[in-house]
Amino acid sequence: MNSIYLRKMIKTVALVLAVGISATAQAVCANPNLDVVVLGSGGPELSDKRASSGYILRENKKARILVDFGSGASLNFERAGAQIEDLQAVLLSHLHADHVNDFPALVKGAFFSERGRDLPVYGPAGNHAVPPLPQYLQRLFGENGAYAYLSGFLDGSEAFRFKPVTVPFDMKRPQVFSAKAGGFTLRAVPVAHGIIPALGWRIEKDGCSVVFSGDTGNMGRTLDKIAGNADLFVAHNAVPEGSADRIALKLHMPPSEIGRIAAGAGVKSAVLSHFMRRTENVKPQTAEAVGAHYSGRLAFAEDCDIYSVQSGLKTGSCAEK
Ligand SMILES: [Zn+2]
Repeated sequence: MNSIYLRKMIKTVALVLAVGISATAQAVCANPNLDVVVLGSGGPELSDKRASSGYILRENKKARILVDFGSGASLNFERAGAQIEDLQAVLLSHLHADHVNDFPALVKGAFFSERGRDLPVYGPAGNHAVPPLPQYLQRLFGENGAYAYLSGFLDGSEAFRFKPVTVPFDMKRPQVFSAKAGGFTLRAVPVAHGIIPALGWRIEKDGCSVVFSGDTGNMGRTLDKIAGNADLFVAHNAVPEGSADRIALKLHMPPSEIGRIAAGAGVKSAVLSHFMRRTENVKPQTAEAVGAHYSGRLAFAEDCDIYSVQSGLKTGSCAEK
């Protein structure tokens, strides 16, 4: 066997292997009954006429996974007909107020629910700026907390507990965290959001996957680690393309970065959310900046929008009666 033939053969084998690996990674979404309801498509400003950040992943119209619960998200949770009894897990991206402000409303609402089994709440580890998730919950609902009257939901004297599960946060050695919840696979990766520990989340079931960027400038490109072949990529659009605001760019990614991630990861549909005044009125420019990299489906979320995970299409609104 001459060396040219041998080299050609090695090349072919390598190509087959490469195709094989990407083919297995490219699972086909086999569940048409999964959808995402946008509970809040706004950020922290009180002038945007949008609820702050929040989403539910549903199966057969039952709320299964709650992702963030910022101000106003609880009203759209109600509009979507979501039930606390149906939840398998709560995932928090980070503890900024616009992502967790309605959490006490969820705990109080639980008092009036029929739920009897513990509900895991996943969130990031702490640092000098922010308490770790268990301490955050203690400060709110512990016996010396602001809402001590709800402490039974932490100590087990109520019908069920909100059980904190701390996700490690290490930007120097970012690892993908994995867990299972009621048939769903949950994955999280640390993402850069200024000094605040923050997580990007990926939820998978039946070959379908949804990725939530959370708030991040994506320094270190850690979001790329969980975005691969996502059916739906919910990306936060909190700075406009061409922004010269260096602080904002440390906290949030510009549209071109969203496009780069989506194209590189082979994302099927991207939904932009978490709008702010500076991004609200520049959507054509945003679409252009995303589209310079990414040619898949792109949507701009409104509160209550419902998106099919399988098709990426908007299928309705929880605001419709
Ligand atoms: Zn935010």
